Amino acid sequence: MQGKILIIEDERELADLVSWYLQKDGFDPRTAESAEEGFAIVEDWKPELIILDINLPGMDGFEFLQKFRRSYSTPVLIVSARNSDEDQISGLGGGADEYIAKPFSPKVLVARVRAVFRRVRNFNEKDGAGFFCFGQFTLDHDARTLKKEGKEISLSAKEFGCLDFLTKQPGKILDVETIYAGVWKNNYGDLTTVAVYIQRLRKKLEDDPANPVYIETVRGMGYRFNSAAQRTES
Ligand code: CA
Repeated sequence: MQGKILIIEDERELADLVSWYLQKDGFDPRTAESAEEGFAIVEDWKPELIILDINLPGMDGFEFLQKFRRSYSTPVLIVSARNSDEDQISGLGGGADEYIAKPFSPKVLVARVRAVFRRVRNFNEKDGAGFFCFGQFTLDHDARTLKKEGKEISLSAKEFGCLDFLTKQPGKILDVETIYAGVWKNNYGDLTTVAVYIQRLRKKLEDDPANPVYIETVRGMGYRFNSAAQRTES
């Protein structure tokens, strides 16, 4: 996955670390040490996503976001120290697309960045690209439905969200932390929720939920969606 990402962060070491992880994942990051510098880069570089710190020298992240939103709809992912800014952040409404509390794991941050890109790109490529097929199932990302041989399977919004998240990275081991962050969109919840939802999905997808073929448990590591699963064939 590619994309231009601007990191606005005054802690040099953190900015470099995040930048390194994003680069490693195929992204094209640049850093700015202040909101003012960020604006200058936005204008001539046109980033596709912004990772924004809140506590900055000069103009702070909230002010940046407010001004930025007057002219741009580019996704913004806020990173900020827990507690102090939490209320204000929840009050931002549609201004920020994601929020990650510091300290965070760079791995989780990269997963969130990928999720934001996927959302934006799916939205932009609505026609035709929104289907994912596995076994006898067809998942429609846009209509948010799952069908088995043409018959709709009833899923709750979170069940769908969880399946949608897994099917977008088939074959990849996803840890519980990443799944939780990607589906529930916050870092404060109970991670055991993920296992509960995986169990529910297995009951709806698997012929034998105790011996799953689509959503595999990778012991000690997480879960893997296996789209090429064949139960009896070959
Ligand atoms: Ca800071």
